[in-house]
Amino acid sequence: MHLEPFELHRPTSVEEAAGLARTHAGRCDFLAGGTDLLPNYKMHINLRPHLISLDRVGEMTHREGGRVGAMTRLAELERDAAFARDYPGVAEAARQVATPLVRASATVGGNLLVETRCFFFNQSQFWRASLGFCLKADGDRCHVVPQKAVCYATFSGDLAPALMVVGAEVEVAGPDGRRRFPVGALYDAAGDGIRRVTLAPGEVVVAVHLPAEARGRPSGYAKLRARPSFDFPELGVAVALSRDGDRLAALRVATGGLEPHPREFDAITARYVGEPLSPERLDALAAEVQAAVRPVHNTAYPPDYRKRMTGVFVRRTVERLWSGGTAA
Ligand SMILES: Cc1cc2nc3c(=O)[nH]c(=O)nc-3n(C[C@H](O)[C@H](O)[C@H](O)COP(=O)(O)OP(=O)(O)OC[C@H]3O[C@@H](n4cnc5c(N)ncnc54)[C@H](O)[C@@H]3O)c2cc1C
Ligand code: SF4
Repeated sequence: MHLEPFELHRPTSVEEAAGLARTHAGRCDFLAGGTDLLPNYKMHINLRPHLISLDRVGEMTHREGGRVGAMTRLAELERDAAFARDYPGVAEAARQVATPLVRASATVGGNLLVETRCFFFNQSQFWRASLGFCLKADGDRCHVVPQKAVCYATFSGDLAPALMVVGAEVEVAGPDGRRRFPVGALYDAAGDGIRRVTLAPGEVVVAVHLPAEARGRPSGYAKLRARPSFDFPELGVAVALSRDGDRLAALRVATGGLEPHPREFDAITARYVGEPLSPERLDALAAEVQAAVRPVHNTAYPPDYRKRMTGVFVRRTVERLWSGGTAA
């Protein structure tokens, strides 16, 4: 496996980066830490001849209060005790991404936009060619659900669900200026799974904004994976809640590692707010979220197991936060 040559651009402002993306539309990628993009390039997946590095864009490396520049390294979040006190679930998710070495380079923006994964896709060019490639790259058929022209590759970023449950927003910049919207709206849940995000061509993620009102709220992230020191999530469950005496005052749950995009369950959790959280209610909540998720067979663990573990992880994480437990 080797890297094909590409032209590297190193803009120093967001506007310059967006301008370069417009000039090289369809023939470029943004490069952040490169921990996802470059391994994919080495496997000759969706190669582009132009890479726009974001490492010199000062605005994107800057972090202040609840504003986290997209180029913030995960290792920096992990080391920041004040951040972990304010947003414990996000810090807990960041700590569980990959390995310390990867986290030293990996960024927040890159984690939100990490490529979806599937065992027919994360393979060398030689391996993929032996099956005639697949819809997501170079081919015309899906090996997981062949009867549909949709890609079911799994969204495997750890930060997104944790950011979603605290109500974080992303700030993006592009040819038409800047806009801000909830993290969940970054993902194209109604799309074909290949175009996985809602960014317009040339748009770059500048920062993530964490709301002040969520500061200090109990939140947590639980991750299922084969090797806890290393692997992508087979399932990620993020929860944020607050309590008013023996009643739930607020509750949000989101999942990742199961479907082509991270998912929130506000319609389900809203029914539990304002009520005491008895063991029976907790079981019912876990069962409802478990019933709603639809993993397919394209990662290491079978979908039935990941589905059942969703219920287990929802129950455990809500219980931990409800009883005042801190991050693992
Ligand atoms: C061994 C190994 C284990 C891993 N385990 C995990 C894991 O457990 N959990 C997990 O979540 N990830 C994991 N990863 C994937 C990856 O390391 C992380 O997701 C990381 O946070 C990606 O960030 P990056 O800065 O390296 O992104 P890059 O690789 O630079 O970019 C990823 C994608 O995002 C786009 N992009 C990056 N920044 C921006 C931006 N600001 N605006 C617009 N587009 C942008 C790039 O064009 C590219 O498409 C693993 C990787 C390796 C090599
Ligand atoms: S889900 Fe199908 S189209 Fe998507 S990467 Fe896997 S095999 Fe390819």
